[in-house]
Amino acid sequence: MKLIGILGGMSAASTQTYYRKLCEITRQRLGGLHSPELLIRSLDFAKIETLQSAGKWEAAGEILNAEAKALQRGGADFIILATNTMHKLADQMMSGVGIPLLHIADATARRIAEAGLHRPGLMATAFTMEQSFYTGRLIEAGLDPVLPDANDRAVVHHIIYDELCKDITTDESRATYEQIAQRVVETGADCVILGCTEIGMLLNQDNVSVPVFDTTLIHCEAAIDLALAE
Ligand code: GLU
Repeated sequence: MKLIGILGGMSAASTQTYYRKLCEITRQRLGGLHSPELLIRSLDFAKIETLQSAGKWEAAGEILNAEAKALQRGGADFIILATNTMHKLADQMMSGVGIPLLHIADATARRIAEAGLHRPGLMATAFTMEQSFYTGRLIEAGLDPVLPDANDRAVVHHIIYDELCKDITTDESRATYEQIAQRVVETGADCVILGCTEIGMLLNQDNVSVPVFDTTLIHCEAAIDLALAE
C-alpha cells in the first residue's frame, strides 16, 4: 500500500471528512483491521485565508510548495491537496517535487464522463467558480460546466467561509444550498459538482434532484485506488 500525503487543514472541517472516508474506504476494500497509510499535514487555515482574501496567491503557493516538499521528505508516495480552491496553485505547489499530485478536478471529471454526463453545475468558492484554473480543467476534459448566477455564487461562497469552514451547519443554509442547486439544474445542469470539500456537509444525493459528484468523496476513492494499485 502506498503512503498518501495529505495537504489539508483547508479547512480542518473537511480534512476530518477525508480522514474518516479514507479509513472507511480502505476498510471496505481490504476488510479486517486494514487502514490507510497516511501522512497528514494540516495547516492553520486562518493564515491561508488571509493570503487568499488579500490576493497574495504567490505567497500561499510558496507555503504549499514547502509543505509538498516536506510530505515527500516524510516518505509520501503521492500527494492529495484536500481543497479544490488551492488547486489554483497546483503548478507552483508541485514545482521541484518529485512525487505526483492526484488532482481533484481530474478525478471528478473522469467520474462525470464515466457516468455519461457532461453539463455539471458547479458549486464552490468564488475563486473556483469564477477563475479558469478549475472550470478550464473541466472544459479540457470535455465537460461544459454551468455556474450559479452572481448572487447565488456570492451566497455559496459566504456560507463556505462563514459557516462550513468553522464546522457550522444550519438547516437554513442547507435549504439555501438546495434551492441554489435546483436553480442550477433549471439552468441546464445534468448533474452537480460539490466543488468545495466542505459542501458535502450540506448537500448529498438525498437532497439534490440530479446526480451529485462530491469532490471530497471522489478524491478519497481515487486516492485509495492509487494507493492500492500495483
Ligand atoms: N475547502 C474549500 C475548497 O474545496 C475551500 C477552502 C479553501 O479555500 O481552501 O475549495
